[in-house]
This record gives sequence, structure tokens and C-alpha cells, in this order.
Amino acid sequence: MGDDDREGALAYGKGVNETEICRNFAQVRADVAGLAEQAGREAESVAVMCAVKTQSAEAIRAVIGCGARVLGHNRVQELVATGKDLRAHGLDVELHMIGPLQRNKVNHALRWATGIQTLDRAELIERVADSLERLGGESEIARRGRTALDVMLQVNVSGEESKNGCEPAEALELATQIGARVNLALTGLMTIGPNTADASAIRGAYRQLRELAEQIRASGAPGTGECTQLSMGMTNDLPEAIAEGATLVRVGRAVFGERS
Ligand SMILES: *Cc1c(COP(=O)(O)O)cnc(C)c1O
Repeated sequence: MGDDDREGALAYGKGVNETEICRNFAQVRADVAGLAEQAGREAESVAVMCAVKTQSAEAIRAVIGCGARVLGHNRVQELVATGKDLRAHGLDVELHMIGPLQRNKVNHALRWATGIQTLDRAELIERVADSLERLGGESEIARRGRTALDVMLQVNVSGEESKNGCEPAEALELATQIGARVNLALTGLMTIGPNTADASAIRGAYRQLRELAEQIRASGAPGTGECTQLSMGMTNDLPEAIAEGATLVRVGRAVFGERS
């Protein structure tokens, strides 16, 4: 990574054990609030999602115990396991898919997820909306009495080929497509920042995501007026993301330590 020398980047300890999770989570929330204030924003305008890939059920329950209310998983299999564990323990939090979603895993994901942040192509959007319809009362959102699933459009603003997400030029059309499906609620845009230590490149990418969301809202297309959330920023680039308007940062290592 080598990003740790970047001015403004936050440094966090490695190899965290479970008892430190609460302290770290509180520290991240305090840092996020401070960064928001520096950016002239309300501290509460930025929520922290815990990215819990590879974490144990105990670690996940621990972070919920210290106040985490939104979790993100990258793989459907892990999301399902977490969903089952939380239900068994009577824990009720938002559980979002933040990794690439394959067509054949959509049904499985919808039985447990309360949100999907990684819609990035026409076929997947239709698949998710159709599957929700077919699942009826068996989807997690139906179980919670909701009629629409919170979704985000993932956009590849870094231009890196390895990254998922639609092209910026496709975003408006895909957002319009989501907006046309009554059981999908387009809450915002999501991106993964460029893999670089260049703070201005990172900010530029995040600024582009914010501007895309503004364009989508301004289009007046049905169902796009609430495209207000910006899911961007991870352990290494919280300052840049919050300065450019992130409303949801996705944090893993700063809370749980380096993944093995
Ligand atoms: C792992 C992951 C994160 C968190 O990254 P950290 O560097 O651990 O903070 C955020 N978003 C996505 C999509 C991830 O896969």
C-alpha cells in the first residue's frame, strides 16, 4: 500500500484483537466526525459502515455491541452466514452487499441483505428487481415490512480496469433504469477509490462521483430524486472522501486490524 505517509492519512494499529474493536470503532467515528467538521459539514452527515469481510461472527457481534448499525460484506456466502448468525442472536442491523454480485447468487443475497451497493449493469438491475418480486415474503426486506430494497449504483470513477462498476458515461441511464423499478430505491452512488497515494487523484475521483449524483438528481428521471448518498472512502482515504462529500464510509482495517 505505502499510503501511510500521505499527509492527512490516518494511521491505525495492526493485529487487533476482539477486545480492541470497540475502542477502534469509537476512534474511527471520532476521526470521521472531526474530518466532517474540517470540511464544514455536520459530524452526523457521515455514517460509518463496517466492512466485515473475513471477520469472525464474534468480532461482528462485538462491533454491533459497540454501536455499529450498518455492515457490508463482499461475498454472498459470508453475507448469508452473518445474516443467519445475527438473526439467531436477535441482532437487527443493516446488512449490505458491497462486493461484485453474480447473477446466480442474487436470490441467495436477497434472502438476507437489506441493501445492495454494487448494481453496475442493466442485466443485474433487472435480475435483482425480478428476483425480489418472485421471492415475495421470503426476502429480508419483506420480512422487515419494506416494499423497496435500498440500492446504489456502483461507478468506476478511477478508470482502473480491475475495478467493478459502470462507466461514468453509463451512470445516468442505469440510474434511470433503477428508478423505473418500484421495488428498488436508488439511495445513491458507490465507488472504490483509485489505488494510489496521490491525494489529488483520489479527491478527483470522489468529486466525480458527487457530481454524477448531482446530475442524476437534476435529470428529473422518475425514482432518481433521492439519489443522495455517496458511499466512498475506506481506511486509507477517509480525509479525501469526506472532503468530497461522502455520506457513508466503509471501514474495515481501521476497526478490525489488518486482514490475514
Ligand atoms: C474491504 C472493503 C472496504 C474496507 O476496506 P479497508 O481498507 O479495510 O477499510 C470497503 N469497501 C469495500 C468494497 C471493500 O471490499
